[in-house]
Amino acid sequence: MTDTLMPQATSLPQERRLVTEIPGPRSRELMARRTGAVSAGVGGTLPVFAERAGGGVIVDVDGNSFIDLGSGIAVTTVGNANPRVVQRVQEQAAAFTHTCFMVTPYEGYVAVCESLNRLTPGDHPKRSALFNSGAEAVENAVKIARAFTGRQAVVVFDHAYHGRTNLTMALTAKNMPYKQSFGPFAPEVYRMPMSYPFRDGPHAGPEVAAWATSKMDKEIGATNIAAILVEPILGEGGFIVPAPGFLPALAAYAAAHGIVFIADEIQTGFCRTGDWFASENEAIVPDLITTAKGMAGGLPLAGVTGRADIMDAVHVGGLGGTYGGNPIACAAALGAIEAMEEDNLPARAREVGEILGGRLRSMAERIPSIGDVRGRGAMMAIEIVEPGTLTPDPQTVQRVADACHRQGVVAITCGTYGNVLRFLPPLTIEDDLLREGLDVVENAFAP
Ligand SMILES: *Cc1c(COP(=O)(O)O)cnc(C)c1O
Repeated sequence: MTDTLMPQATSLPQERRLVTEIPGPRSRELMARRTGAVSAGVGGTLPVFAERAGGGVIVDVDGNSFIDLGSGIAVTTVGNANPRVVQRVQEQAAAFTHTCFMVTPYEGYVAVCESLNRLTPGDHPKRSALFNSGAEAVENAVKIARAFTGRQAVVVFDHAYHGRTNLTMALTAKNMPYKQSFGPFAPEVYRMPMSYPFRDGPHAGPEVAAWATSKMDKEIGATNIAAILVEPILGEGGFIVPAPGFLPALAAYAAAHGIVFIADEIQTGFCRTGDWFASENEAIVPDLITTAKGMAGGLPLAGVTGRADIMDAVHVGGLGGTYGGNPIACAAALGAIEAMEEDNLPARAREVGEILGGRLRSMAERIPSIGDVRGRGAMMAIEIVEPGTLTPDPQTVQRVADACHRQGVVAITCGTYGNVLRFLPPLTIEDDLLREGLDVVENAFAP
């Protein structure tokens, strides 16, 4: 089949196309099978099933073509089925699919670690380790920080999202749906105030950081803190961009007290925000950085990267896992990273951000329920409130998202209050298609 050798990203028509009602008959059939076979606990956003995807579109099993403004939650940054990813995956799958890196190592794993060490902020000696999911990377970053410091406490922030495993549920802020009825949670996790400019009022970043660090001093004691863990721009929590100075002040406090500063860049990393990593925006050099989502073009891969002295502090055998750094996922990451470097995707993310941000700001002038427009690069969001107030309006967000879905646009929501519409288009989306998608979003606000 030449079909599999001819990457679909280049061959799929880049258009919004509705040929059936949404969901169409084949999607409805599959949905009935899903209900009969898949746990009801697994959530769902769109009622349609995917058949192909690439560039800026997802085509469903009924032939409808959707404009993709979500990238499968910030994963397909280089585009779905990116040719460089597809080719390397096919070659690696034909060569070998698994040996376990801890049993018989292979070059791809080492090459991904070299890329991570080279691309992450700071030119100090670094090491990396690879895992399967973002949550697993965060858990391991905490393990490493505890082993290095000999301390236990972990500081996290309001509105944080770090995953759904037991430790990361404790690190995640939001109860419903992530934590409700799943306790008990891991101990020694302390939550501090986050800079949230839209809701904080006029507090400056350093002021909120000082509030957080004084709480750390008083409630935990700096010498008990192994790690401060923070998303440079909050993802699931609502694309909250902390006020300037907040993150540098936290990093300085961590450095002054021997605390490992961990940037969770699982959503923000790998070109999404217009830099390789969002930490670069305020020249922060994290001690450790967690990555996943965008790094492997859709295959499951995650990493912890950071200071060699910290990463090497763990006893031999203390890190690992059967599948961590699977060879096919590593091949995909090398293809994705090549695409990011050769196509200069940080610059493309800034271009996408200009179109997105410009359009969202002009929408906010016409639509009074848009209380805030925020984000950076190709990671932008609007927060929806009752006009003129800070009162969250999650019903309107859900209504708008549903209307977008019926009109052929994949739009996704987030936020502690469920009232944020977030935009994470693949960087391979054509400008006109992105503009058309945003037209649909604006029209969806009409009552
Ligand atoms: C998605 C996400 C995670 C969890 O990653 P999974 O691969 O879903 O386990 C952790 N942190 C942040 C910031 C994320 O956006």
